[in-house]
Amino acid sequence: MMGKKRLSVFGATGSVGSSTLSLIREHPDKFALHALSANSDYHSLAQLAQEFQPSCVVIADEAFYTPLSERLSGLGITVLAGQKALEEVATQKVDLLVAAIVGLAGLAPVWRAVEAGQNIALANKETLVAAGHLIMPAAEKNGATLLPIDSEHNAIFQCLRYENQADIKKIILTASGGPFREMSIAEMQNVTIEQALLHPNWSMGPKVTIDSATMMNKGLELIEAAWLFDRGAEKLDAIIHPQSSIHGLVGFKDGSWLAQLGIADMRVPISYALGWPDRLGWQGQDFDFSQALQLDFAPIDGQKFPCFSLAKQVLGQSAEQAIILNAANEMAVAQFLAGEIGFADISTIVERALAAGDSGIKAHSYEAVIALDREIRQR
Ligand code: NDP
Repeated sequence: MMGKKRLSVFGATGSVGSSTLSLIREHPDKFALHALSANSDYHSLAQLAQEFQPSCVVIADEAFYTPLSERLSGLGITVLAGQKALEEVATQKVDLLVAAIVGLAGLAPVWRAVEAGQNIALANKETLVAAGHLIMPAAEKNGATLLPIDSEHNAIFQCLRYENQADIKKIILTASGGPFREMSIAEMQNVTIEQALLHPNWSMGPKVTIDSATMMNKGLELIEAAWLFDRGAEKLDAIIHPQSSIHGLVGFKDGSWLAQLGIADMRVPISYALGWPDRLGWQGQDFDFSQALQLDFAPIDGQKFPCFSLAKQVLGQSAEQAIILNAANEMAVAQFLAGEIGFADISTIVERALAAGDSGIKAHSYEAVIALDREIRQR
């Protein structure tokens, strides 16, 4: 690796953002920060800025501009606020932009970064679910590179590094099954927010943790994989693998399978993206192969996890269906986390939104994606 890589980290105060910054902390000789962003957590953003000394910070919620500026005064760090600032900073050239904002709020900066031809380490799956049909061609046109951070997609990305696209027979994503894997459908009706937030293997932000409990996450990931790896629904699948040791598998036309293993720590795939095309040294815990390692696999029960089934139905259908799925799910998860609806209502809300369809908006442009997303949320 030549010199220090300059990075922007969007969503720096979140789970993926924190994991990214912990790796940067371990490799101060390899990285320098251009920008850090958060939505409203200006306390954490100020602390990170004091530690990492980026050129600028952006707080998306303008209400926190003043307290953030006060905390950082005299440090020579440019403080910006608002959506437009986020988009502007996304176009400022860096070696790698880490896209770790949660939900469709992450689309605007990713879209601008793609237009600017940036290298993007992408965690924000909702962006590809809703706008993959626009982002992938725009990335190709503008010379932007997408490096997946989602552990399953990162696994597939690694497996495919030296392979011919034409030789791929099947791509399989693994799923832990979340906290309710062993529960009956009846028991799952009354689970609490606290139970749903207790993921057995991964430590993540609240939205993706609930998506993992409903298994919508795996459905969103299948749609994400379809765009990233240019595969149709018939070549994509997901299976339960409770140990979360294997993250993705690729089957080839000659009967060979490649799988990527790693401990259930997001810093492993993030490290790959940060180091790419090289690999960084790993300082964390690793497998101990002198101990017995169990690898179990099982099919996903679509009846028990209706959100997974709904997303699978949408896979390979219109972009509009994927936008409705994503918007309805984001709203339903937010309502569940606010204690306004039950766990089982999440899939009912998404199903109803899909059945109701859209009002005729066609998602032919970035602006149309945003308009349709807004319409579904308002509904
Ligand atoms: P978190 O909720 O932990 O963090 C979200 C980050 O986005 C925070 O920095 C938050 O700022 C910021 N943010 C939230 N809303 C907005 C907004 N409207 N505008 C600008 N910034 C905003 O999420 P995760 O880190 O868990 O997930 C991030 C993305 O990565 C998701 O798309 C998720 O699906 C994906 N992902 C996450 C994994 C994980 O292990 N966590 C694994 C694989 C994928 P603030 O702190 O101020 O609210």
